[in-house]
Amino acid sequence: MADTFEIAVFAGDGIGPEITGPSVEILREMSDRASGYTLAFNDAPAGAAHYAQTGESFPTQSMEIAKKADAILLSAMGLPEVRYPDGTEISPQIDLRKALTLFAGVRPVTVRSGQRTPLNLPEGKEIDFVLIRESTEGLFHTQGKGEVSENEARETLLITRDISEKLFQFTFQLASNRKAAGRGSGRVTCVDKANVFRAFAFFRDMFDAEAGQHPNLSADHAYVDATALWMVQKPWDFDVLVTENMFGDILSDLGAGLMGGLGLAPSADIGLEHAVFQPCHGSAPDIAGQGVANPMAMILSAAMMLDWLGIKHDNPSMIADGAKLREAVEQVVAEGLVLTRDLGGTAGTLEAAAAVRERVSHA
Ligand code: NAD
Repeated sequence: MADTFEIAVFAGDGIGPEITGPSVEILREMSDRASGYTLAFNDAPAGAAHYAQTGESFPTQSMEIAKKADAILLSAMGLPEVRYPDGTEISPQIDLRKALTLFAGVRPVTVRSGQRTPLNLPEGKEIDFVLIRESTEGLFHTQGKGEVSENEARETLLITRDISEKLFQFTFQLASNRKAAGRGSGRVTCVDKANVFRAFAFFRDMFDAEAGQHPNLSADHAYVDATALWMVQKPWDFDVLVTENMFGDILSDLGAGLMGGLGLAPSADIGLEHAVFQPCHGSAPDIAGQGVANPMAMILSAAMMLDWLGIKHDNPSMIADGAKLREAVEQVVAEGLVLTRDLGGTAGTLEAAAAVRERVSHA
């Protein structure tokens, strides 16, 4: 009897439901065909539209569904015109990150041969690295609680031993998994500003201590400003990068830019027990309801979910399906025949998803 995995699905706001439907459909078909696992999906209502209708942004029952699930698939939440009385936006995805202590924000950056990119990649060069952004502290520690007086504003950066040690253990394990899968050289780079701030020297010391436990991997350091330069000048050199929350926030958008836009940028927020898989983009209200949203970032996030579940539960069939799904998206994007508007094509959401579905079913 194949293992059954419960997936909590947050279809969210704006283009969320439009990209969630076909992504879940692809997963359902893969699960139906697989002999080694079964997926069961549970819808979890939450978000800005739900708040506007019911006065509740994140129902307790949806949080319970998320906590009980083996993995959480989320599209995007928030609508600029729907706000709490204090003026802030509805963002259950941030509540989830805090409630489930999802400290590792995983942002893969991949550009395959033939794929459009703003860079002029030298012949034969492809980009394939992972940026890991600490997601619970750093310069986001005082988010919403900064002190502002007439002449001064203060926010506090927090780096803790507890979270940093977990973050670095996770990072080196991920680099080791990539190396074993033939996707990376086993090089981990700590991105910081240790030349200026003592907090980053502390961050770096803990990184070095963890690096010492992994003689089969190589470890080095880079300053965040130089990293931004090298991500443009020689991004093929990187394998796994790990950094603080705000630096990661900025660099991950640069990574999405290298891939040709937000519509291709997947992500995962991972903790010790739970994980949320979601595209990097938001709810794109400017194109919602038109059927033109790019579903690829969501489908790639679903592929990351299969890979994570497969590794966590030692299920080779899920790992293989995760790779199959990712490669199907990469092939469709690199061929360039069925692209959505944001990538310069004319295909709608369903057509783009169907091209991936077709590719997966024949892989
Ligand atoms: P956004 O990512 O939604 O949109 C930015 C631009 O990218 C828009 O022009 C949009 O049309 C385009 N875009 C985004 N995803 C696309 C896709 N899949 N296909 C084609 N084009 C796409 O960012 P925003 O406009 O700043 O935010 C809109 C709402 O989303 C806000 O309420 C914001 O708070 C929320 N948001 C949520 C998340 C999340 O849930 N993780 C992340 C960012 C923003």
